[in-house]
Amino acid sequence: MSRDALIFYSEFDDPEAWKKTLTAELPDIDFHTDPDAVDPAIVHYALTWKPPAGFFGRFPNLKLVTNLGAGVDSLVGRDDLPDVPISRLSDTGMVSLMSSYVLFSVIRYARDIHIFERAQRRGEWKYIHPRALSDIRVGVLGLGELGGPAAQALVRTGFDVRGWSRSLKDIPGVRCSAGSDTLDDFLRDIEILVILLPLTPETRGLLDARRLALLPAGAKLINASRGAVVDEPALIDALQSGTIEEATLDVFTVEPLPRNHAFWSMKNVLITPHLASITVPEAAAREVAESIRRVRSGLPPLHGIDPRRGY
Ligand code: NDP
Repeated sequence: MSRDALIFYSEFDDPEAWKKTLTAELPDIDFHTDPDAVDPAIVHYALTWKPPAGFFGRFPNLKLVTNLGAGVDSLVGRDDLPDVPISRLSDTGMVSLMSSYVLFSVIRYARDIHIFERAQRRGEWKYIHPRALSDIRVGVLGLGELGGPAAQALVRTGFDVRGWSRSLKDIPGVRCSAGSDTLDDFLRDIEILVILLPLTPETRGLLDARRLALLPAGAKLINASRGAVVDEPALIDALQSGTIEEATLDVFTVEPLPRNHAFWSMKNVLITPHLASITVPEAAAREVAESIRRVRSGLPPLHGIDPRRGY
């Protein structure tokens, strides 16, 4: 049998952890991290996060490229991307982490915890009568592998949940709408907005000054997908003027967030350093291995993406 190799590249992920778990799943695959130490002709699979320009062009026989993350915005625009199936990571561990981040962030606002955090710093006993969760309208933009389960977790917790995506979804308990024509009306009704859209040419700057202004006064915004989906200067204006009352931001146009960025000093912004969800190799390797098995059998990989669509 001819040899079959996988090339791994990431400056972020631990190659040893991936090698251990992936070769346990696929013992017949050679796992390489050094592109100079492998015959390029036998490299059929690439598992990469932001490899250098021209990287994929070195391997003429690729059959599958897997992005070592859920967001493919840094991959799809590359000019060396081969015309082969492209997949990305998604696993139950990642879904649970994202749902927990969304639940925490929404509940923090819904239960006024952000106000109590500040009151405690002032030594103030500040009673606010809690609202019924079923009265609180939470909107989730993006109902994909992360947004869908996050919306369901919000429903299970008792919120009034609405969701918006490109194609219409049917998620029990979630009032769904779809398409750019419906976005303005969707926003007008949302108290806590959760953004879980991929960054594509269509979604870049989607939440601009005009759309942010459609949110009801006192709205809260949670962005856990990509910073550039929101027009950051417009968000800063809205947070300063109070049009948007609070924001929880895990992602930014420039990361790490520059030291002099306005968000750092804004008391109504909670910053987390892009970790709403991460990949756990043990869980994700099984999915990557299954994708490789599927491609070997002539089937599409799991979690395939369409580079033309951008996600
Ligand atoms: P998916 O591709 O599974 O889902 C994307 C969702 O967005 C789909 O519901 C899709 O609609 C919708 N969508 C895409 N484009 C549009 C559009 N133009 N208009 C309306 N809806 C649109 O992605 P995931 O759920 O797996 O992940 C979402 C994003 O989260 C990732 O792209 C990544 O950037 C980010 N992320 C952030 C992490 C963090 O730690 N902060 C960790 C992991 C991911 P449809 O269903 O109709 O196709």
